[in-house]
Amino acid sequence: MSDAVGAPEGAVEGREPAGEKTIFGHPRGLVILFLTEMWERFSYYGMRGLLVIYLTQHFLFSDERSSVIYGAYTALVFIMTIIGGTLADRYLGQRKAVAYGALLLVLGHGMMAFEGSGSREILTYQGQDYEIALDGRGGDARQLIVSDAGQSVIGFSNGGAMMEIADPQAVGLPASIPADAYATRIEQEALYVNILYLALALIIAGVGFLKANISTIVGALYGYEDLRRDSGFTIFYMGINLGSFLSSVTVGVIGIVYGWSWGFGLAGVGMLAGLVVFLWGQPWLEGRADPPSLETLGKKVLGPINVEWACYLTGVGIVAVSMLMVMNAHLIPETFVGMLGVVVFIFMIGYAVTKLHGDERARMFAAMYFILAQIPFWALFEQAGSSLNLFTARLVDKTMFGVTVPAPVFQGLNAGYIVIFAPILAWLWVALAKRRLEPSTPVKFAVGVFLAGAGFLALVGGINASGSGAALTAVYFIFLIYWLHTMGELMLSPVGLSAVTRLAPARIVGMTMGAWFLYSGLSNYLAGLIARATGAQTIGGQLTDIAAAKATYVSVYSQVGYIAMGIGFAMLLVAPFIKRLMRLDTLTDDHAHALAGEAELAEPLAPGTHPPQKAGA
Ligand code: GLN
Repeated sequence: MSDAVGAPEGAVEGREPAGEKTIFGHPRGLVILFLTEMWERFSYYGMRGLLVIYLTQHFLFSDERSSVIYGAYTALVFIMTIIGGTLADRYLGQRKAVAYGALLLVLGHGMMAFEGSGSREILTYQGQDYEIALDGRGGDARQLIVSDAGQSVIGFSNGGAMMEIADPQAVGLPASIPADAYATRIEQEALYVNILYLALALIIAGVGFLKANISTIVGALYGYEDLRRDSGFTIFYMGINLGSFLSSVTVGVIGIVYGWSWGFGLAGVGMLAGLVVFLWGQPWLEGRADPPSLETLGKKVLGPINVEWACYLTGVGIVAVSMLMVMNAHLIPETFVGMLGVVVFIFMIGYAVTKLHGDERARMFAAMYFILAQIPFWALFEQAGSSLNLFTARLVDKTMFGVTVPAPVFQGLNAGYIVIFAPILAWLWVALAKRRLEPSTPVKFAVGVFLAGAGFLALVGGINASGSGAALTAVYFIFLIYWLHTMGELMLSPVGLSAVTRLAPARIVGMTMGAWFLYSGLSNYLAGLIARATGAQTIGGQLTDIAAAKATYVSVYSQVGYIAMGIGFAMLLVAPFIKRLMRLDTLTDDHAHALAGEAELAEPLAPGTHPPQKAGA
């Protein structure tokens, strides 16, 4: 197919602005955005890694309630990017939106460090109160019962019907107590639970203002015809994963070993570093993220409140709404997420049809294709934290060089691979583009989705190689699936950011980036459904029938593997059509220049319309 090795998407050589200050051949603003996003993701992933354990062990929320809070939080974080993106497009500009988002994030992560003394679980037996506590944090913590006299480790037998007390004398209780002979209740400190909700809401609003907009600024560093665009986004993506990798080996460990507040506090300090870098590095962005119009920003809307402050107050509103939603997450119907996806889709189509014309509309349809085409990828990729993590924990022989490696360690493989392979791909895209051999964006996407499926089929091959009995799967296959998924991710995720910032009309680029993240977040919902299908029978969190569990994994993983490969293949077939929809021939810097010139007469310069620079001029 000629498209697979087609022309480099309409790019023309020598389109980097003359006189541009670069570092390693990229605009120096990329360094600032790389570091800011690295620290933002450091705090985000560091905090997220601790969150569920914190909810269950410190606040003693049930497993169900904790996962509902976690689910609502991670969904809202992505959902709010559409509001942050839209406000930046219309009024604030990306620079102010990112700075404000970073400030909210520093407050939110900082607030997470106020943990209080935690919830207490009180057990009443024969009219006497005892406290149930843990002797540590994390998966290895043991349950204790504490009385005035002393304390003892406890365990449960008969599927929880009997409580067994290791040292009955120490607490003055019998060695086993049937479950119906005692009652338990949980006492939470309302103040600290509310601080937790507020902190989560601040983070949701903060990411909402920051995440989509910082990607938009990366896009604004490159002209439409700049050959370095995908490469720049791939380097930026490396920053994201470097942050996530560094936090998993610092925030996660410190939070568990030294205490929650130390971990969360460190995440907050990381975010503060991000804010400082961003503010300090402003000159290097060379005005490419400025507000669309200072005049509009200063316009009064209500008494002393001008448009700029109204945007910040909207942020406070997002905090309030998010706090209410996280608190009442268990009341939100599960279908809400799916419905939201449909509503946003209809809105975007409606916008494109009524407000856009000609090439602009065609490009917007292409951007929407990419936004939707990421769904099958993330639905498979996001098994990493759920079903694949459990599979690794239970069904893989994790002994390497005589050491049994704990399953969560494999979670770091993805970020590790990205840090290694992102620079290689960043180089490859530019090198291929210069030779006019770079695959088009829709082809890269097709390969990305295909690789997500291929990864699962490779793992299924590994499971089958271990036979149909209870034998464990060799650990190499875990390295292999994560590698294939990471290569797929690099084909799709940074490339998608690059394409969306290039294809969306400048005046709605933030909103469109918001939609990208929204659907990327919604894909997690689908990922949850797939993970649920792999669920096996367990007692006390351990499998009861290993061979049956293996068979379930083989069946679900090969189904999703084949489906994704099929979708990838279909995407390859439509790639030439999508490429035409991108209208690359008219997507030139000169054209943008002309448009911006016209726009200036009617309305102020749209944000993200990077000061159009005539290449080679
Ligand atoms: N891991 C990437 C990030 O945090 C991509 C997230 C996504 O789009 N789902 O930015």
